[in-house]
Amino acid sequence: MKYILVTGGVISGVGKGIISSSFGTILKSSGLEVTSIKIDPYLNEDAGTFSPYEHGEVYVLDDGGEVDLDLGNYERFLDIILHRDNNITTGKVYKNVIDGERKGTYLGKTVQVVPHITDAIQEWVERVATIPVSLNGKIPDVCIIELGGTIGDIESMAFVEAFRQFQFRVKRDNICIAHVSLVPQPRSTGEHKTKPTQSSVRELRGLGLSPDIILCRSEKPFGHSVKEKISNFCHVNPEQILSIPDLSSIYEVPVLMQNYGMIEYLNERLNLGIESFSESHRNMKKWRNLVERIKHLKYEVKIVIVGKYTQLEDAYASLLKALQHASNHLGYKASVQFIEASDLEKDTLLTNPVAYHDAWRNLCKAECVVVPGGFGKRGVEGKIEACKWCRENNKPFLGICLGFQTAVIEFARNVAKMEGAHTTECEVPTSYPVIIDMPEHNPGQMGATMRLGKRITVFKPEFNSKLRYLYNSQEKIEERHRHRYEVNPEYVEQLEKLGLQFVGVDTDQKRMEILELKDHPYYVAVQYHPEYLSRPMAPSPPFIGLILAAKEKLTSHIVNGHKLSPQAQSDYYDSDEDLENLATKLNVNESESLIRCQG
Ligand code: GLN
Repeated sequence: MKYILVTGGVISGVGKGIISSSFGTILKSSGLEVTSIKIDPYLNEDAGTFSPYEHGEVYVLDDGGEVDLDLGNYERFLDIILHRDNNITTGKVYKNVIDGERKGTYLGKTVQVVPHITDAIQEWVERVATIPVSLNGKIPDVCIIELGGTIGDIESMAFVEAFRQFQFRVKRDNICIAHVSLVPQPRSTGEHKTKPTQSSVRELRGLGLSPDIILCRSEKPFGHSVKEKISNFCHVNPEQILSIPDLSSIYEVPVLMQNYGMIEYLNERLNLGIESFSESHRNMKKWRNLVERIKHLKYEVKIVIVGKYTQLEDAYASLLKALQHASNHLGYKASVQFIEASDLEKDTLLTNPVAYHDAWRNLCKAECVVVPGGFGKRGVEGKIEACKWCRENNKPFLGICLGFQTAVIEFARNVAKMEGAHTTECEVPTSYPVIIDMPEHNPGQMGATMRLGKRITVFKPEFNSKLRYLYNSQEKIEERHRHRYEVNPEYVEQLEKLGLQFVGVDTDQKRMEILELKDHPYYVAVQYHPEYLSRPMAPSPPFIGLILAAKEKLTSHIVNGHKLSPQAQSDYYDSDEDLENLATKLNVNESESLIRCQG
């Protein structure tokens, strides 16, 4: 097993996750099996109980693991399926060790950070690295380990010490350390400043880890003189320093790294045994094409998200990615605007009329609307208003999880005339409890007790479902879930009679999974979260449907048996030849030499 440890310096949030995923992408393009581990040095056992304002969205895995959103980047870039153990937190490791102590594993010894916690970390990494993450079931060749936070944080000390020991445990040939740092360029001087990078590398080396590669994030690219300066102070060759400027899309990062010769470097440094790089260049072409496609998108699609965590984009990270995947695939740039759900509520008209009118104006201007998942009472009435407006105005609409539930509540209140219909999440008792909690998922404890992870949804044959078409007319699909409440089966028949069709259900036919409104261009809502399984090269069907409907092209898509009509196709896609021509080499600084292995 080969390991690449990615550490971060200076500040967090400089794109360590994307860079780590990019290492994986270029290695995978060479035919290697790649897995990844994300380390979050906080005490929470998992990300499940976080407010989205803490660390952004909670990402959900097939096995129901509620994890850091960086695991989403890995899954999307590498097209792999990770497991809950691929996310290590301080809480998990300590729990593991303390449970062991209670069982008597340590035979009366004093249990300490060194060696017990540090050993547990190393054993965890070695164990998880070998778990297959692809459908082919192969054991991975390379494991990328991303250490969250920045070097020097008290929280990550035990992990840094564990990896200091780990490099001897696995031997030098099998581990390589990449440090992601920041090189600011203050406007006053316009110069690239290397001091913060020097300090963070000094700190890292002081803790016993010496980087093999330094990847410097900066606004603009920098040249050899800056690299020489970093090299002089950081004990690496200038060729092992890579400038990663702000790029037009995240998919440029692996392309840039490959152009720089990173794969050749890793091959020598880690003895990966790659004999020819032509396969890697061939496989990376799809990423180059994607980059070029995104750069040359001519038209945009106006999407509105009616959410409640709208101050932080990361709170909707996977949703935004899924909307981009679908839009880009169909030839559009996704122009996404957030509306704070509560701004659509009547009360806001009294307290903040400007916000109210702005919100409504933006909603009216949208070509399509998404009401995403969420928890708690705040904003629910605003989401219900958004559902009503889309239903009544034939606006393409996609409701996800809570958005699915608000669509049901809205229909019950306004079409089925069930006055006061609600979810028991917001109101107990309620006159018409159309959304109720699932008894087995409410044991009185919040962590990991929702209906989580991948579950089967079966399409009901009696319905002519749009979504089923979009899912390639499959009978069953599998998507990831994260909810505690569900549609009350007692009301299903009544709602269906009025045109709200529950076209997809779980395998026991008890749980409503997908709804579609009859006689509407696209009024679709799903209890699951389709955004988690969307991939840049394989966008998720509900999002494809939404964008097609926004551009009034869904019907032709369906009539033509999932293929776009030749006319429409020329709008969406460049011919293969065009793509070939577009896929020219990215503008990496030509003067930069390839990294050479320094042994
Ligand atoms: N709060 C709702 C529930 O628990 C919806 C959850 C969600 O949107 N992820 O069922």
